[in-house]
Amino acid sequence: MITEILKGMFTTFKHLLQPPVTIQYPEVKRPVRYRFKGRHELKRYDNGLEKCIGCALCAAACPADAIFVEAAENTDDERYSPGERYARVYEINMLRCIFCGFCEDACPTEAIVLEDNYELSFYDRASAIYTKEMLLVPVPPGGQPTPQKVEPGKYDRAIPEMEDPK
Ligand code: SF4
Ligand code: SF4
Repeated sequence: MITEILKGMFTTFKHLLQPPVTIQYPEVKRPVRYRFKGRHELKRYDNGLEKCIGCALCAAACPADAIFVEAAENTDDERYSPGERYARVYEINMLRCIFCGFCEDACPTEAIVLEDNYELSFYDRASAIYTKEMLLVPVPPGGQPTPQKVEPGKYDRAIPEMEDPK
């Protein structure tokens, strides 16, 4: 009996001397792993044009049917992305998403990327629909917001030859 109590107390005191493993979330956040898949972001090129070309391959690849894409035509007076089309509507239903990353793998322009943000919370179903405005990253420094007015014929390929067209 005494032995068991002493064993138990030894275990308790042993842990008193060890550094704590808990962190003070949300003030302190643990860095995520390299391959962590968090909330999606829709990326832009350095010049501010959107990488998404509205092809809906991500929606086709999604096993949870969580993505809705509606494409529209670009013009050189109102250009959102290189090539013919852009995503006029882009929505992800986060209640359906299982964070598998298939959408990221299917995307031909690397527009949709699952990033580090894991702080997803909402109080009703409507708030679980993340819209294009919520997903699109801010314009990079030196870039222009979309839509842009560009020279005719400058961006006639949906997937530009340059990695980051200026
Ligand atoms: S991570 Fe998977 S489930 Fe979520 S939107 Fe992308 S393909 Fe669909
Ligand atoms: S995110 Fe990628 S796969 Fe999805 S519509 Fe845009 S370009 Fe196509």
